[in-house]
Amino acid sequence: MPKTIFKLDSSKKFGDQEKLGHNRWHPEIPSVATVKPGESFRVDCREWFDGAIENNDSAEDILNAPLLTVHALSGPFHVEGVKPGDLLIVDILDVGPIPQEDDGPLAGQGWGYTGIFSRNNGGGFLTEQFPDAYKAVWDFSGQTATSRHVPGVSFTGIVHPGLMGTAPSAELLAKWNAREGALIATDPDRVPPLALPPESEHAVLGGLDQAEWNRVGSEAARTAPPRENGGNQDIKNFTKGSRVFYPVFVDGANLSLGDLHFSQGDGEITFCGAIEMGGFIDLRVDVIKGGMETYGVSENAIFMPGNVDPQYSEWLAFSGTSVTLDGEQRYLDSHLSYQRACLHAIDYLTKFGYSPEQAYLLLGAAPIEGRLSGVVDIPNSCSTVYLPTAIFDFDVRPSASGPVQIDPGIGAPRAANQK
Ligand code: ZN
Repeated sequence: MPKTIFKLDSSKKFGDQEKLGHNRWHPEIPSVATVKPGESFRVDCREWFDGAIENNDSAEDILNAPLLTVHALSGPFHVEGVKPGDLLIVDILDVGPIPQEDDGPLAGQGWGYTGIFSRNNGGGFLTEQFPDAYKAVWDFSGQTATSRHVPGVSFTGIVHPGLMGTAPSAELLAKWNAREGALIATDPDRVPPLALPPESEHAVLGGLDQAEWNRVGSEAARTAPPRENGGNQDIKNFTKGSRVFYPVFVDGANLSLGDLHFSQGDGEITFCGAIEMGGFIDLRVDVIKGGMETYGVSENAIFMPGNVDPQYSEWLAFSGTSVTLDGEQRYLDSHLSYQRACLHAIDYLTKFGYSPEQAYLLLGAAPIEGRLSGVVDIPNSCSTVYLPTAIFDFDVRPSASGPVQIDPGIGAPRAANQK
C-alpha cells in the first residue's frame, strides 16, 4: 500500500481535517502536497456531500441536500517539474470504499446512496417526470451492492472516481465564467438553473490565505460540470487499471479528485445517480513533456479504461428516438432519445412490480450501458440503454408467461418537491 499523502478522519467534517481540501476550481488554490513523476501514493476521499446524507429510510436529506458545498475534493497535488503544455499521466492503481470501516454513519463505511434530486434542488435527467426527492441506500458486500429500497437486484460495482482533473489557468477559468455566465443570462430564473455561477459563501479553498477567500471564491468555478480540465466527468469506466492523460494548465498540474462511486450507470441519470461514497484511491503519476501539442490533446482528457469491469454477457436493451412524450418531432436530439430509451426501460420494469422511482434509481446505480446508436438518420436520433439481465434475482426477459411480480418491500423513501 503506497503512502497516504491526503488522510481523512471519518469522524470529522471536511473542514475540520488535518489537511483541508477544496470544493471549487481556481489556479490560486495552493497545493496540499507534492509528488514526483513515477511516484505512487494514496489519497483518502470524502463523499461529495461531506456526510449530509444518512443511512435511513427518509429522503428529507436528499430534498435539502447542500448543493452549494459540493464537491468535497482531495488536493490539489503538485507534480514536480510538470509544466503547462505537458500531459499528466494518472494511473488508477486501486480504488474502493473506506478501508477497515465496514460499519458507520458515513457513506463509504460499508454502504452508499443514490438520490433522485427534487426539481427545486438539483433536478436530474428525467426531472419533468420525477420532480420529487427519493433515496436508495445500498449495502456493500465485497464487490456486490444490494438495497432494501430496491429489492430483487444485486450487482457487481464498477468503482471509480466521478471527479478528477487538473487546475485551470487564470485564462481558462475566465473563459469558463464568461461562457457559462452568458448561458445563465439567457434564462436567469430557470428551475433547475442552466448553469451554476461562482459562489463564495460556501467555497472551501484549501490553504489559501483567508484574506483572499472572498475574491478567489467569487471567481472560482463550481465543480459540477466537466470541462477542459476533466473534472466531474462521471465516466463509470475510470475504474482501477485505468490510465488517464490530463492536459496541464498550471505549474505542477495541481491534480484534484473526489466523488467516489461504488457503481454507476452510463449517464448517472438521476443526477446523484451513482452509488456515492467516501473511500480511498491509489494513484501513480507521470508526465509526457509537451504532450498536449505532440498528441493534439489541448483540452479534455483522453484515457485507457481499466480491465476489471463486471463480467455481464447478456443484456436487455431499450431504444428511444427524438420524439417528445407529447408526440412532437425533434431534430436529431440525442439527449431526448436517451431520455425516451430510459423511460421505456422504467415502464418495462414497473410491470414486474417496481415503482417508477425504484426503476429510475436502479438505472442510475447499476452498471447499465448507454449508447448513441444513430445520430444521422433525420429526423430521429436513436439512443439505447442496455440492462445486464444477471443483476435481477428473477427472469427479467419477456416471455409468453408474463412478468413475475417482485415484492417491492418498503419502497424508496420519498420527500415531496416543495418551495
Ligand atoms: Zn458522484
